[in-house]
Amino acid sequence: MTGLMEGKRGLIMGLANDKSLAWGIAKRLREHGAELAFSYQGEALEKRVKPLAESLGSDFLIECDVSDMAALDTAFDTLAARWPTIDFVVHAIGFSDKNELRGKYVDTSLENFLMTMNISAYSLVAVTKRAAAMMPESGGSVVTLTYYGAEKVVPHYNVMGVAKAALETSVKYLANDLGPRNIRVNAISAGPIKTLAASGIGDFRYILKWNELNAPLRRNVTIEDVGGAGLYFLSDLSSGVTGETHHVDAGYHVVGMKQEDAPDI
Ligand code: NAD
Repeated sequence: MTGLMEGKRGLIMGLANDKSLAWGIAKRLREHGAELAFSYQGEALEKRVKPLAESLGSDFLIECDVSDMAALDTAFDTLAARWPTIDFVVHAIGFSDKNELRGKYVDTSLENFLMTMNISAYSLVAVTKRAAAMMPESGGSVVTLTYYGAEKVVPHYNVMGVAKAALETSVKYLANDLGPRNIRVNAISAGPIKTLAASGIGDFRYILKWNELNAPLRRNVTIEDVGGAGLYFLSDLSSGVTGETHHVDAGYHVVGMKQEDAPDI
C-alpha cells in the first residue's frame, strides 16, 4: 500500500542524522507521498540535515531552537510564508545535561530540571499551539516520541523520565483541547535505539542489551519500526485515535521480570 500521505504536508522537528528516530518517520512518510519541511537546531546540524532532506525531495529547512519562543514564532512564520496550511508535525526532541543522565535522580539540579522540562516536554505544547493554528478545518495530526522511563524507573534515565511523564500527560491534555477541531495528538513510546541523544544516557549499552534479551520479540526495535507507527499516526489509518501513548518496543513494556532464557549480562 502506498500513497497514504498523498496531498499532505508537514514539519519534521528533531532530525539530527540518519540514526535519528525522526529520520525513520520522515522516510516512511515520504514513501507515502508526504511533502516535508525540516527544522533543525543550530548551524552545525544544518549541513547534516540538508542532504538528508534533499534525498527526500525537500529543500525546506528552518532553524529553530524550541526553548526560545521567539525562535519558534519565527520558524512557524517561515513555514506559513511558504505553506498556508500544514497537516502534521513530528516532534522528536529531547535534551538534558548528560551529567544528570547517570547517577541518582535525587541529585537533579533545579536548573537542569527546568531546562529538561522546557526542551523535552513544554516544547510539545508550544509547537502544537503554533502548528494547530496552521491546520485546516479538516484537522491534523501531531506525534511525539517518548520512552518507557516515564512509566517505570530505568536506571540513569532520571530527570528525562520525569520530563517524558509530563510529555505523555501533555499528549492527553492537548488531545482533549484540540479534539473538537479534529487535531489528533499521540505519542510513540520507542524502545531503546542507538542515536546521538541516547548516547548521553549512562550505560545505554546495558539498556539496549537488556531490552534485546527480555522483550517478547527478543530484539531491539529499529527506526524503521518507529517509522511505521509514525505513518499510522500521521495518516488517516489512525483517524479514530488520539491521546494515546503507543509502544513500539518489541513488547518490552508487557514483561514483568527477566526472561528464563535471558543470560546474565
Ligand atoms: P537524536 O539525537 O537523533 O534527536 C534528538 C533531536 O533533538 C536532535 O535533532 C536535536 O537537535 C534536537 N534538540 C535537542 N534540543 C533541542 C532544542 N533546544 N531545540 C530544537 N531541537 C533540539 O536522538 P533520537 O533518539 O532520535 O531522539 C528523538 C526523540 O526520541 C527524543 O524525544 C528522544 O527522547 C526520543 N526517544 C529516543 C529513544 C532512543 O532510544 N533513541 C527511545 C525513546 C524515545
